[in-house]
Amino acid sequence: MSFPINLDGLIYDFRSIPLVLGSLYGGIPVLILLYLTLILYRSFMGSPNEWIYALSIIPSLIVVVFSLRLYHSSRLYRKIILSVIFITIIKLLTFSIYLASILQIELLFTKPIATIETYILQGIIVGLCVYLIEFLNNHFHMQEEVAKSEKIMIVSEMAAAVAHEIRNPLTVIRGFIQLLGAEELDKEKKNYYQKISLEELDRAQVIITNYLSLAKPDPEMIEIINVNDEITYLSNILFTYSNYNNIQIVVALFEDHPLLVVGDRYKFRQALINIGKNAIEAMNNEGILEIRTNKTNDSIVIIISDNGIGMTSEQIKRLGIPYYSTKDKGTGLGTMVSFGIIRKMNGKIHVTSELGKGTMYEISFPEGDRFNT
Ligand code: ADP
Ligand code: MG
Repeated sequence: MSFPINLDGLIYDFRSIPLVLGSLYGGIPVLILLYLTLILYRSFMGSPNEWIYALSIIPSLIVVVFSLRLYHSSRLYRKIILSVIFITIIKLLTFSIYLASILQIELLFTKPIATIETYILQGIIVGLCVYLIEFLNNHFHMQEEVAKSEKIMIVSEMAAAVAHEIRNPLTVIRGFIQLLGAEELDKEKKNYYQKISLEELDRAQVIITNYLSLAKPDPEMIEIINVNDEITYLSNILFTYSNYNNIQIVVALFEDHPLLVVGDRYKFRQALINIGKNAIEAMNNEGILEIRTNKTNDSIVIIISDNGIGMTSEQIKRLGIPYYSTKDKGTGLGTMVSFGIIRKMNGKIHVTSELGKGTMYEISFPEGDRFNT
């Protein structure tokens, strides 16, 4: 509105573009806000016939409001067509009513060619914007969906390990309850059996609690995350799975200084769980999974290494590409999701690997508190 085009007496600008896009994607509140802004700015610029203009534009906005539902239930190409129709209606209807009210309707027809050009131009811009918005929306929506389905995958793949892991304490407890039933049992032994049984029950409970927390739907929230706490959680979660696969886990935490990063806690967990799970799966039923944390000058480093089958440099390059998997039941989406989450947290991933020797993931993040100040 500040830089209009002058087409031989007809002043023209692209105010309808934000009006249409804002209303279509922001709904009625945004439409009202944009309407008020438009009227205020117009009067601020000292344009004439303020009230006539304010009223002339209302009918076309009503058309848009009543078409919002239709718009949102349409497919992409119909959305583009509808948005072009809306912007044309807004301009045409508003202009006609306005010019008719100030008795200059003939202005609409004096320069038809020049006017049509501007209609086409604004139509193209709005169509392109709608395409871009829909494309990006779709893209982000897809990524969310993939992350969700990967989470469900992890939960279902770990189910067997969890069931197995719970059976052990149950067997132990069963044995001790049998022993407790013996008649001539001294107090000391009785206490001992009871103590072990309770410990085993607690262990089973921890496994179940951890497992359930994995499956819980999580609210997206950006917060400061204590990396060591999350690594402890990670090792607890992976412990069941690694035990099931005969893998040992070794954790070494950097304790001199709190390691803080910024991000969504549950996403962060998901990213690490998948990398850890891949490491366990790369070691065919024997090996050591090492998880370490460290701090360099300005970043926080998490190292997850295994002594499994390893990868060639070609394979490393393919990590993170959707559907790349060398496993029978692999989805090839785990690393894609993990890498996406880590990059979103401004993290960097460095993978080194040697065939037959093992793989090391070095993940570094900018320090959390620096981020916040
Ligand atoms: P999936 O685990 O379902 O196969 P991912 O995206 O998690 O999918 O992993 C893709 C592939 O990357 C795996 O199939 C495997 O070949 C390879 N890979 C990932 N991590 C490791 C690792 N630590 N050691 C060896 N290969 C790995
Ligand atoms: Mg995986």
